[in-house]
Amino acid sequence: NRQWCLAARPVGDIKESDFEYREEPIPSLEDGEVLVRNIYLSLDPTNRIWMSDRPQYMPPVQLGEVMRGLVLGVVEESKNANFQPGDLVSGLLGWQDYALISPPNLLSLIKLPTPLPVPLTAFMGPLSFIGCTAYFGLLDIGKPQAGETVVVSAASGAVGSLVGQIAKIKGCRVVGITGSDEKCQWLLEELGFDAAINYQTADLIPALAKSCPNGIDVYFENVGGAILDAVLTQVNLNARIPLCGLISTYNSQEPVPGPYNFSQILMKRVLVQGFIVSDYVQQWDVAFREIGQWIQEGKIKYNQEIVEGLENAPKAILKLFDGNKMGKLIVQVSPE
Ligand code: NDP
Repeated sequence: NRQWCLAARPVGDIKESDFEYREEPIPSLEDGEVLVRNIYLSLDPTNRIWMSDRPQYMPPVQLGEVMRGLVLGVVEESKNANFQPGDLVSGLLGWQDYALISPPNLLSLIKLPTPLPVPLTAFMGPLSFIGCTAYFGLLDIGKPQAGETVVVSAASGAVGSLVGQIAKIKGCRVVGITGSDEKCQWLLEELGFDAAINYQTADLIPALAKSCPNGIDVYFENVGGAILDAVLTQVNLNARIPLCGLISTYNSQEPVPGPYNFSQILMKRVLVQGFIVSDYVQQWDVAFREIGQWIQEGKIKYNQEIVEGLENAPKAILKLFDGNKMGKLIVQVSPE
């Protein structure tokens, strides 16, 4: 059983040497247990948070522990009546080939529907916590109304690309901020965004003013830092900011100052609300049903960057931070 364990807490950017490779025998089962063969491993910005020991919403991964990660897998062996070999499941099964799950942890193992209504990898993107993040952050906190302007950062990423498409479905003007011209083109031509801004090359404040002639009503925040500051200069009265993520700060070694335009939150009576997708776990089914229908109607598209081989996971995770990927980042651990 090949495994990647946390060897060191990253200082600044993640380094491949922060992970340690290990091989263990495939575990054998006791009564009540289930053995899962991991197929796809999800790589997510929050992995960087779990690797650190700063205050966070879950316990950090301990040094020497198998790196935590969301996995789609198949039950290989079962000594539990609720799971049969061949069942497709998802859960936090870690950066490894096989995961042994004991009864207390089986509660968090989700069984996928049979037959699968969409390709399996959709359960790593729009039909996973990623889809729920976009859905509840935008609709429950952002509350976009038809005709309003919605801006989203990390717009070509897993969450951001869904946020923009859901906002379009709701009749909004949608502006995406992302890191390359190629990604901007994808947002405009494939996903139907109304405008896209390359933050690497654009002067953000005039670019936002041009793309948002009626100001900004909802800003779905994935990034923080300079992008948040630029957006705050353009927000409308009673704007809403679902605070989903702050990826520009995850590698910072010191506390990050700002936002510098904080006073705009007062002047424009802006609602800023942080959320973690697990806050909505009781309602995830609602999101899955509606997003599933939008996928089948062709109203939602998704893109995935699949890296072959568990051995490449420590290198692949760097793509989240250098932006060298399109859509959801996934590692293929074994064949479907
Ligand atoms: P993405 O697929 O969007 O990948 C991350 C992207 O962030 C990169 O591709 C890059 O895109 C962009 N990025 C990286 N560094 C910077 C930077 N310094 N400045 C600006 N952009 C940067 O990841 P996800 O969709 O999975 O996650 C997006 C955000 O949502 C993250 O902040 C994550 O932590 C958060 N999140 C929060 C959840 C919650 O429950 N609150 C749940 C899931 C995710 P580009 O080319 O555009 O620069």
